[in-house]
Amino acid sequence: MSKIKKNDTVSVLVGRDKGKAGKVLAVVPGGKKAIVEGVNFVKKHKRKSREDEKGGIVKKESSIHISNLALFCKGCNRPTKVGFDRLADGKKTRFCKRCKEVF
Ligand SMILES: [Zn+2]
Repeated sequence: MSKIKKNDTVSVLVGRDKGKAGKVLAVVPGGKKAIVEGVNFVKKHKRKSREDEKGGIVKKESSIHISNLALFCKGCNRPTKVGFDRLADGKKTRFCKRCKEVF
């Protein structure tokens, strides 16, 4: 089980987007990287074509390594460490190590 899943709210711990928070739009297959809304924008040049006269530069989120992210806990109102727990029925759950809120 990955500590971060799609639709989680996460905070960026390192890099130029340090301190930013956003929603996880997707986790890259393999679970090592994730795409976070508004984080790690890269400029992509778009070629002009006859059908599309706009062209120019398009900004798009690029994936960021999951080890650079922390799950944001609404209970603590800050990024937190995630713990894992196993329920009686064998299902795994994630919880905030600080306030024990289950995600
Ligand atoms: Zn918490």
